Amino acid sequence: MVKETGYYDILGVKPNASAEEIKKAYRKLALKYHPDKNPNEGEKFKLISQAYEVLSDSQKRNLYDEGGEQAIKEGGLTGGHFSSPMDIFDMFFGGGGRMNREKRGKNVVHQLSVSLEDMYNGATRKLALHKNVICAKCEGRGGKKGAVEKCSTCKGRGMQVHIQQLGPGMVQQIQSMCPDCQGQGETISPKDRCKTCNGKKVLKEKKILEVHIDKGMKDGQKIMFHGEGDQEPGLEPGDVIIVLEQRDNETFQRQGENLVMKMELQLAESLCGFRKLVPTLDQRMLVITSRPGEVVKHGDLKCIVNEGMPRLKDPFEKGILILQFFVRFPEHFWLPLTKLPELENLLPPREDVMITDDMEQVDLVEFDPNARSQSFGREAYEEDHHPRAGVQCQTS
Ligand SMILES: [Zn+2]
Ligand SMILES: [Zn+2]
Repeated sequence: MVKETGYYDILGVKPNASAEEIKKAYRKLALKYHPDKNPNEGEKFKLISQAYEVLSDSQKRNLYDEGGEQAIKEGGLTGGHFSSPMDIFDMFFGGGGRMNREKRGKNVVHQLSVSLEDMYNGATRKLALHKNVICAKCEGRGGKKGAVEKCSTCKGRGMQVHIQQLGPGMVQQIQSMCPDCQGQGETISPKDRCKTCNGKKVLKEKKILEVHIDKGMKDGQKIMFHGEGDQEPGLEPGDVIIVLEQRDNETFQRQGENLVMKMELQLAESLCGFRKLVPTLDQRMLVITSRPGEVVKHGDLKCIVNEGMPRLKDPFEKGILILQFFVRFPEHFWLPLTKLPELENLLPPREDVMITDDMEQVDLVEFDPNARSQSFGREAYEEDHHPRAGVQCQTS
């Protein structure tokens, strides 16, 4: 039992979630709430990052499970100190460290939803992105040579400091972006401004990226486009990182290199044998046949070798396709009662039960796991003000 579930709730996972599930949950939420995509959700982005920082580290996770958020804040592990959400994000998506970032523009991460078929067969997808490119007309200067002047309002700092009197002897310093140069620290007089970019030094350009989805790629796989991020004068452009998100498939469930498929059997098929069709993700049809006399039970697992997912970079090697059998039993009263002895004669013998006078005859009724208090008597139901988890079968 964990003390609190707050961090788990933020990531939308159960407290017993695996490290893999936690990573996946972070990936989805961080991309969704990244300030580039959702500028008004900064607080949410921060919470997601903090929850992930704790839950992705087994030591911190243990501490949190035992002592809750309080333990994390007081604990020596973080000293109540979290990494910046951007650092966590960059680390997760492989954006390089802080050192790099000062000389390089930021990386842009996009999610691309891909079907299981595309990951099986390989595919090329075109992705249209808008990015800033350096204005060719002024070569990123924003105006004529020598037209750039230090902003006189902020003296080139890009920031302004106001002193606000809060009360007697109490002042507050407020820093804000310089309105005259928009934090750039420099200005260009309107007549010298580059007409093409209007002094902004960069232009928005539409760029089509061709994303090659190789056979065997998986959910969360990153595809890097080096230097395709926004261009900014004086900086090396960052990367565009495409993160694949695998869509669910109706027929197959993927487990690493293996595929799992549920297959329904009629009772006759389960007992007397069957021949069935299995579709593949590349539109072939496989035929499977049970061995004569073989019984396939409800819940049985069987597999077909080399019909799982292709291995990345070695696509002729494939995993296995696991078939999970579900036996469909007939509904009630499917056979005239007079016919039952005939069927029984064919089936393995039933177990005989000795009944004595001191035993009690009771009724067997349908059980509904969703109905609370079903099995409590009327009296007990009325007294029961406390919600109970599920239904307990009471015998007394
Ligand atoms: Zn200024
Ligand atoms: Zn220009």
